[in-house]
Amino acid sequence: MQLPALEMPVFQPGWVWLAGAGPGDPGLLTLHAVNALNQADVVIYDALVGDAILRCARPNAVLEYAGKRGGKPSPKQRDISLRLVELAQAGKRVLRLKGGDPFVFGRGAEEALALRDANIPFRIIPGISAGIGGLAYAGIPLTHRDTNSCVTFLTGHNASGEVPDSLDWAAMVRASPVLVIYMAMKHLDILVTKLRHAGLSGDRPAALVQDATLPQMRVLTSSLDRICADAQAAGMAPPALLVVGEVVDLHAVFGSSDLQATLSPSCQAAS
Ligand code: SAH
Repeated sequence: MQLPALEMPVFQPGWVWLAGAGPGDPGLLTLHAVNALNQADVVIYDALVGDAILRCARPNAVLEYAGKRGGKPSPKQRDISLRLVELAQAGKRVLRLKGGDPFVFGRGAEEALALRDANIPFRIIPGISAGIGGLAYAGIPLTHRDTNSCVTFLTGHNASGEVPDSLDWAAMVRASPVLVIYMAMKHLDILVTKLRHAGLSGDRPAALVQDATLPQMRVLTSSLDRICADAQAAGMAPPALLVVGEVVDLHAVFGSSDLQATLSPSCQAAS
């Protein structure tokens, strides 16, 4: 792919570039990510990186999948890190491509530490995180001066796949009028119960955004008390973000299909 006339870095053999691919729409790749795809010998990609993005790799690049597929267990994180090291030591230009931003709930830090430990030179290429770009496409602004001056991002899974129990939920809901919860679907009911027990009222606006920025994006707006039943009735499925807070109400204004089409030509069939 042609890049504007910018001085872009040269991908040296033996290096690993750990890059974010954004939430899905290829138009949200950064120029650095495109530059990496143009030069990489091997692309090691995750489940959230779609075909439209992989087609941007140079034609003879090797594409290696490193995610969970078809109910099979995902490769162990250690094995992925070892593979990156092995390929770099073999003199390849290795692009490790992750959905969203590699340092946002993406285990990018673990891989970067493994590369550091193995003395492999690497660089980090940030990406647009789903909790930011994905919500914009869904017509949900993260902040509005009338409602919130603070946002909290959290994950619905910890390393062992459970809702994080080390969080002070009550302090969090007191401090942050808007919550954006990644990996929200598996334990949606537990998350909602935790938020209710932490003090949020049942009529607090809540939304699920599935497949954000992709043509099949779906946005479900509801309230904390109703969202589990509504999600089940609508058949909502991962990957999805749960957003809780008054900004969700603005989806009624910004989520119209006309506006979304203006934001992203690839996203016209939303909702
Ligand atoms: N590093 C990624 C997050 C990885 S965790 C980022 O910065 O976006 C995986 C979770 O991200 C999913 O369970 C989901 O909650 C969220 N996610 C990623 N892509 C998404 C998308 N296109 N639509 C909705 N949620 C998405």
